[in-house]
Amino acid sequence: MKIQKLLNYARDGWVAGDGGLAQVRSAVTGEVIAETGSGGLDFKAMLDHARDVGGPALRKLTFHERAHMLKALANAVMARKEELYELSYATGATRTDSWIDIEGGAGTLFSFSSKGRRELPNGRILIDGAMEPLSRGGSFVGQHVFTPLQGVAVHINAFNFPVWGMLEKLGPTLLAGVPAIVKPASATGYLTELAVRIMIEADVLPRGALQLIMGSTGDLMDHLTCQDVVSFTGSAATAMKLQSHPVIARESVRFVAERDSLNASILGPDSGPGTPEFDLFVKEVAREMTVKAGQKCTAIRRAMAPARHLDAVQEALSERLEKVRIGDPRDEATQMGALASASQLEAVREAVAELAHSARIVSGDPAVPPVAGGGAFIAPILLRADDPWGAAAVHDVEAFGPVSTLMPYRDLDDAIALANRGMGSLALSLFTYDTDAARDFVLGAGAYHGRMMILDRTSAKESTGHGSPLPVLVHGGPGRAGGGEEMGGMRGVKHYMQRTALQGGPEMLSKIVGQWLPGADKPTGDVHPFRKRISELEIGYTLKTGSRIVTLEDIEHFAHFTGDTFYAHMDEEAAKASPIFGGRVAHGYLILSFAAGLFVDPAPGPVLANTGLESLRFLTPLYPGDSMRVELTVKSKSVRDAEKGEVRWAVEVFNQKDELVATYELMTMNVP
Ligand code: NAP
Repeated sequence: MKIQKLLNYARDGWVAGDGGLAQVRSAVTGEVIAETGSGGLDFKAMLDHARDVGGPALRKLTFHERAHMLKALANAVMARKEELYELSYATGATRTDSWIDIEGGAGTLFSFSSKGRRELPNGRILIDGAMEPLSRGGSFVGQHVFTPLQGVAVHINAFNFPVWGMLEKLGPTLLAGVPAIVKPASATGYLTELAVRIMIEADVLPRGALQLIMGSTGDLMDHLTCQDVVSFTGSAATAMKLQSHPVIARESVRFVAERDSLNASILGPDSGPGTPEFDLFVKEVAREMTVKAGQKCTAIRRAMAPARHLDAVQEALSERLEKVRIGDPRDEATQMGALASASQLEAVREAVAELAHSARIVSGDPAVPPVAGGGAFIAPILLRADDPWGAAAVHDVEAFGPVSTLMPYRDLDDAIALANRGMGSLALSLFTYDTDAARDFVLGAGAYHGRMMILDRTSAKESTGHGSPLPVLVHGGPGRAGGGEEMGGMRGVKHYMQRTALQGGPEMLSKIVGQWLPGADKPTGDVHPFRKRISELEIGYTLKTGSRIVTLEDIEHFAHFTGDTFYAHMDEEAAKASPIFGGRVAHGYLILSFAAGLFVDPAPGPVLANTGLESLRFLTPLYPGDSMRVELTVKSKSVRDAEKGEVRWAVEVFNQKDELVATYELMTMNVP
């Protein structure tokens, strides 16, 4: 087999490392398949290139333009996915394992792309929360905003998901407008190298937006500043080493750590043999042990069951594990492939030996290779610790392979304490049909776990599983898990941005953030805003309608027409007695309907449809004989594509005394 020389991608060019190259071996055959190294790279020049070329180019784009870029990258990966699958077999992964890595990685980019276009403005500044009034007269206000960091995101990744591990970090980073330097783990970096090649060849990224280091990071850490982020995934030992680098502390460099974790899965006290939850638990523990040969940071390492059910769990689980077909990942019948490397196999055997001091092996034998030859194969190993409080190692030693320890608990409090004994985890699952037990468990254990899945017979069929981090949910956990947080939808984007509290006048801040803020100017004109396309609508442009009187007949007509005969509108005596109204009042929905009647311009035109309203507040009751008028203001606008976009309108309804009756935000779909 030809030995592939892996290349670094530095300053927009592919370069070979010089000096001693490390050999990379196939996980399946043990043959050398590639050579890798980053010797000779000028790491400071790479950082400067990202800061001087990549960052400015990315920051010129809007969130939506960057989101489109992510979609193009994901499409490029999907178009050439078979090349990635082919190479991925050498990592020991089956096609199903690689699906999580390759298509799961592309899916994460798609998710960030679509959420970015839906939830972020088509601008370059991100507003954080509502405007804060800071003065009596309203001329001085506060508004939090996010702007992109002006440095580099250094992504140091683990070996187990060479594609997904890179893409789940690249999605939020590029969406935020920050360039990245990616350093994959040496053992499986060849797959990352191909994925980067595919993305570079797709030619959608600006120069300097993405670079790749295929080996040591040299003196890179020495040149980091407060504008950079190190996002690390890997072992606790490496994380601690990197995090204690003096530059990280001196420059307050953001350091996101995703480390190992002793994730727990708990069979609920109510879920004995014969219940659907018992079967689901056994199935999930077995699945988590064997998918990706257990090399998942979220895999179940500690399986807990009520003491009285432990034997039954052990029996059912062992039966499943013994049936797992282990072998060449290319073979379609194979359910579990190899570990990623011979050194990984050694590390797993050592960890099992350590665990076996305080737990006994009840299924599998780490010393007997299930497949002959030079591959890194190991059978699933189930251990059992009958005294989990006396077995410190089972809550502390991570065997990063198909290894899990079964342990009993006495009652729910004991289960909570044992789960938390891992001192911080990425993912926990609880199998129970008892909602009270589940609530008590979440209250007792939530603070120790980044994600908790409570599974029962109603949710299992559509469940995404214990071990799958999802782009829309937070991935990370406290303590042992690293204390970091990734993804979580648009939360992940903010890890690469700086939050700043802006203070100033509403008109000034409105112009800065590109959105109308209460108190900012409301220019008016002769043209009804419904007659203007998005491109012609000015932020703050306001329609001030004429007024109409709301009569008792209107209220009664509305009540009978809609069936809403609530006492406050129809029963003078009861309304008078109410602590709120002091007499009959107009329906809130009548006010909304009359408001539309006042501001709508009916003929077909640039406004295509009303798509909803948000933040509706009724502030002052409207009594029969009162009049109402509306101010309709363009709050923000965003073009989706060539045919449509969205306009958000601030709607304020006033009475004849200019008191605010109602406020809300109206959304319409408009022609760009
Ligand atoms: P690792 O040995 O800690 O390596 C992680 C990364 O750090 C690799 O890219 C490695 O590169 C790099 N690295 C090592 N020393 C470095 C240094 N001095 N300077 C810069 N980079 C350095 O971990 P691993 O064996 O690849 O991954 C397995 C571990 O990762 C497990 O413990 C697992 O639980 C954890 N993990 C956690 C998550 C999560 O999201 N929380 C996800 C996956 C895995 P080289 O390979 O070139 O040494």
